[in-house]
Amino acid sequence: MARCWLPIGKKTSLTKLSADVTPGFKGEEASAREATEELRGELIDLQRKLYAEERQRLLIVLQAMDTGGKDGVIRKVFSGVNPLGVTVARFERPTPAELAHDYLWRVHPHVPGNGEIVIFNRSHYEDVLVVRTNKLKPKSIWSKRFEHLRNFERMLADEGTTIVKFYLHIDRDEQKERLQARLDDTSRNWKFDAHDLEQRKLWDDYMQAYRDAIVETDRKYAPWYVIPANKKWFRDWAVMRILVDTLRKMDPQYPKADFDPTTIRIV
Ligand code: AMP
Ligand code: MG
Repeated sequence: MARCWLPIGKKTSLTKLSADVTPGFKGEEASAREATEELRGELIDLQRKLYAEERQRLLIVLQAMDTGGKDGVIRKVFSGVNPLGVTVARFERPTPAELAHDYLWRVHPHVPGNGEIVIFNRSHYEDVLVVRTNKLKPKSIWSKRFEHLRNFERMLADEGTTIVKFYLHIDRDEQKERLQARLDDTSRNWKFDAHDLEQRKLWDDYMQAYRDAIVETDRKYAPWYVIPANKKWFRDWAVMRILVDTLRKMDPQYPKADFDPTTIRIV
């Protein structure tokens, strides 16, 4: 498979990691969009089989800074895929009931069942990201969570769930432009959230928190893909590419009929 993601390590500074590069893709916007469209047919076909087979489960985790493109990926990569069998679970500020429980309590009920694909728009990772950068819990609490996250995902994988995790990497300048676009375009005003400006001030802290979360929980059974995401056409292609490769490996099959269809007559 082409390396359409960026490998990162304990010492990587995400602040310095270019969000403009297009690893694994030679060419420009038009050919990337064309390649994405070619893969779309295969994604649709593989999802159809996964649903019919009703045996395997796929969990897709999407994380990014505000304006990073989580909604865009869901809209563009999954357009045309049969909504039967694909669900988006969105994780926002915890409700009082959620806060009254452990942080995985609200997550577990949303994981995919047999034949299903679930996309997490934000996820259990917020509990080592926003919680850490905003000091919602002390280090003594959030630092223990990496191990919980590994074990939680390990359990899901052992029990038959395939997991892929994406961090859509944009830089601070790109976020500025995208936030400004939400102010300038009346059809996008609804997406503007003053809270995002507060989080933007914590950019460097977030980059450290993302780096640590990724390095601590990037495992074979639950790999992270760091997608340079300033260029939306590259982002969409890379996510599509990885998902199609993941589903190819899962290799879902239409179930064989346990009867001989040629012997049945419909009158
Ligand atoms: P959005 O995805 O734009 O609707 O924003 C959702 C907001 O909820 C973001 O600011 C997240 O950081 C915040 N959020 C999600 N999960 C948590 C959490 N576990 N604790 C605190 N804030 C969270
Ligand atoms: Mg928002």
